[in-house]
Amino acid sequence: MMYQNLHTHSTYCDGKDSLEEMIVYAMEHGFDSIGFSGHSYMHFSPKSTMTIAGTESYKSEVRELASKYADRIKVYCGLELELNSEVDLDGYDYIIGAYHYFKLGNEYVGFDRKAAEVQHVIDTRFGGDFLEYAKEYYANIVKLGEIGVVDIVGHFDLLVKNCDALASLDCSLPAYRRYALEAAEELSHTVGIFEVNTGAIARGYRRTPYPDPFIIKALKTFGSRLILSSDCHDKHNLACGFEESIELIKSCGFKEIWRLEDGQFVPQPI
Ligand SMILES: [Zn+2]
Ligand SMILES: [Zn+2]
Repeated sequence: MMYQNLHTHSTYCDGKDSLEEMIVYAMEHGFDSIGFSGHSYMHFSPKSTMTIAGTESYKSEVRELASKYADRIKVYCGLELELNSEVDLDGYDYIIGAYHYFKLGNEYVGFDRKAAEVQHVIDTRFGGDFLEYAKEYYANIVKLGEIGVVDIVGHFDLLVKNCDALASLDCSLPAYRRYALEAAEELSHTVGIFEVNTGAIARGYRRTPYPDPFIIKALKTFGSRLILSSDCHDKHNLACGFEESIELIKSCGFKEIWRLEDGQFVPQPI
C-alpha cells in the first residue's frame, strides 16, 4: 500500500527538515504523495508558526518542488489553520483545521503542552475540573466547521494528549464522552473528514493515535471519513505508527481511508 501524509511540518514553522528533505525522504520510504501543512501565523505563538512573509515563500517553494519532482511524487500545499488565527486562505490545496489555544478574554492559553503545564491550565483556569476544561474545548472545536473552508479536522482530541501521564484526564467519564461525541457528530456534518493522527506516538506522549478509539468507532456511525497522518515534525516520523493505526481503523469498522488526489478526496481500501 502506498502511503500519503497530509499533515507535515517543515523549517518554515516548527519542523526539523526542509521541504525538499521531506519530499526526498518520502519518495524513498513508500510514499506516492505528500502534503505540507505549515502552521498558520498566530501572533500569540510566533515561534511555532509560519511568519506572514514566510507563508508566501512556503507556498511558492512547495509549488516549485511539486513541479521539480512531479514525475516521482505528488506534492500538495496545505495549511494547518488555527481556529483563532486570521490569515489569508488563498492558494492551498486543502486546509486542516486545528485548535491549540483557548481564547479566554483577551488571552490565548495553550494546551498542546507537557503534562504539568496542562494540569496548571486546568487548575488555574478551570478550577481544577477536567470536565470544565473539556467542555470549553469541545464547545469551541466545533467552530472549525463554521469557517467554511476546513477540509479535515486535525487531532480532534488534542486536549487529552497527556492522558497516559495525567490521571486527571479521565476519558472514561460519561460526561467527557458526551462532550466529545456531540462535537464529533457536529463536525461529521460540517467538515466530514477527520484525521487519525499519530503525532503524539512519535513524540512519546501517547500509545494510540488521536482520536481515542471510542471516538473513531463513533465516527463510523456518524458517516465520517478518515485520513491517516503523522503530524510530522521530523522526516523520520513520516510513517510513524501507520501500520498499527490502519489495524485500529479497521477494528473500528472502517474498510477504507481517504486520500487527496488532484483536488478530490478518494477512498483507498485498507
Ligand atoms: Zn497541531
Ligand atoms: Zn501539526
